[in-house]
Amino acid sequence: MSAAPQPGAALPRDTFSRFLFEGAGVRGARVHLAATSRAIVAAHPYPPALARVLRELAACASLLAGSLKFDGTLIVQLAGDGPVRLIVVECSTSLALRATAQWDEARVRALPPDASLHDLAGGPASARLAITLDPRAEGAMTQGIVALEGGSVAAMLEHYLGASEQVASRLALAQAGDDVAGVLVQRLPGAAGHDDEAWREASAALDAADMAALGLAATSDAGLTALFPGRDLRVFRPVAPHFACSCTQGRVEGALRIAGRQEIEAALAEQGRIEVVCEFCGRAYLFAPDEARALFAAAPGAAPTRH
Ligand SMILES: [Zn+2]
Repeated sequence: MSAAPQPGAALPRDTFSRFLFEGAGVRGARVHLAATSRAIVAAHPYPPALARVLRELAACASLLAGSLKFDGTLIVQLAGDGPVRLIVVECSTSLALRATAQWDEARVRALPPDASLHDLAGGPASARLAITLDPRAEGAMTQGIVALEGGSVAAMLEHYLGASEQVASRLALAQAGDDVAGVLVQRLPGAAGHDDEAWREASAALDAADMAALGLAATSDAGLTALFPGRDLRVFRPVAPHFACSCTQGRVEGALRIAGRQEIEAALAEQGRIEVVCEFCGRAYLFAPDEARALFAAAPGAAPTRH
């Protein structure tokens, strides 16, 4: 389904849509996250530099996941032993987002407030940044490694898309408060020589765009037209990105069963109850001693308990 750009039509503040340059071999996507990025950074008391990087990764994850052809999840994961030890940003193809991170407060505080993802991670010697695609029912998971370079998250993702998808890509991100806006343009594979000019124009437009221009392009069709003047754009139906966590009582119970009876008894002896807090959304799952023990007594197919 598609719609012609309508001047002045404002979109919801959490919005995503794909678009095409008609007849010019360039495709793109735009995203604006407001309530969603606020919910993401509200999960933990993130240091400002880490919160900024999380918002940027959430915008990137939306731009990539919203363009996938299968039903599943895209996961951006950083793991290492730098100042930030772990980042997980998950975005489903229906644009349900959640994220979490673990960091060393003192080491992050020692970095400048504008520290890059490279600095937060401690560089490629300390950490690994990967993008995993999980198509659920439709096949095996695939994973690509993003080179952890200096510079912006947008530049890192541009290189990744160029290398992994073999598609020339330009990505611009901008933030104001908790709002983050992003526009991605890609040169369609097999684009002919006469599309060079459209591609150069699209790249130059992203180079020149500031937060105001990107924010407008992401939240109104008139703004998108203004970003790429003189181009005939086909804008696809918008999708609403939103914060959603996939944690459930059942999954927490499963995790407790995997932890094992011994572990649970030790925690009960220490705290008198079991409390599991979801790292993504902060929801607390509480188990009284009899409820925790019942997980092992009643679990169908559970390993027999030794006495
Ligand atoms: Zn949760």
